[in-house]
Amino acid sequence: FLMRKKIVAGNWKMNKVLDEAVALTSELVNMAKDEVRNDAKIILCPPAIYLTTIQKYIENEPNFALAAQNCSDKVSGAFTGEISAQMLQSIGVQYVLIGHSERRQYFNETNALLAEKVNTALANGVSPIFCCGESLEQRQNDDYIGFVKNQLTESLFHLSEEQLKSVVIAYEPIWAIGTGLTASAEQAQDMHAALRAHIASKYGADVADEISILYGGSVTAASAPELFAAPDIDGGLVGGASLKSREFTNIIKAR
Ligand code: PEP
Repeated sequence: FLMRKKIVAGNWKMNKVLDEAVALTSELVNMAKDEVRNDAKIILCPPAIYLTTIQKYIENEPNFALAAQNCSDKVSGAFTGEISAQMLQSIGVQYVLIGHSERRQYFNETNALLAEKVNTALANGVSPIFCCGESLEQRQNDDYIGFVKNQLTESLFHLSEEQLKSVVIAYEPIWAIGTGLTASAEQAQDMHAALRAHIASKYGADVADEISILYGGSVTAASAPELFAAPDIDGGLVGGASLKSREFTNIIKAR
């Protein structure tokens, strides 16, 4: 029996000025470091401008890691304002969120573009945290499980088995993000099991069993225990509740 890595990631989005970002990080390190066994990882996803600073606060904490919230699909060159996966790697960032629903919605990121981002991240040794999920309208009217499976097919299924093993998946139903409307543990578990089966259909059950699939969407300290207890939910990607050190620490404890 294979123990999948438990991960609790905090996506700060476009929040906090420098002093606040540093304060949150040191509070978290103090509160959460003793909570984490070796099987779990806490990933902080601050705005990119703070990554180097925050790196210094977690460098002696083996269970903490950093993720960027995005990276360019391009390797380097004349792309003003963009940040490449190689740049992330060069400052010691180990993970990058790819395909968050806000990037898909406000920045028109498509499955094909996200496949390019996944490629450049992996080529530079940065692990993608690949976000997927359906809208409320899709859940009500469409084959929403098929829709999310297709997001994986189009952005990940060109990868080799070894490459896929470096990817973390985050299922984040759009109707649950920032709305206070958490998916029930049963709804989330159903999707996670379907996604794992989808991965197994292409890569085999052994590979599928190794992939961490996180749930995201209005996770709180109150909802986390039931969600994280589900067999195919390997932790969480937390937005709003990751901005408060006490709340986020309590979510970490639930994993
Ligand atoms: C997110 O944006 O990844 C997220 C899950 O946000 P929230 O927890 O605020 O719903």
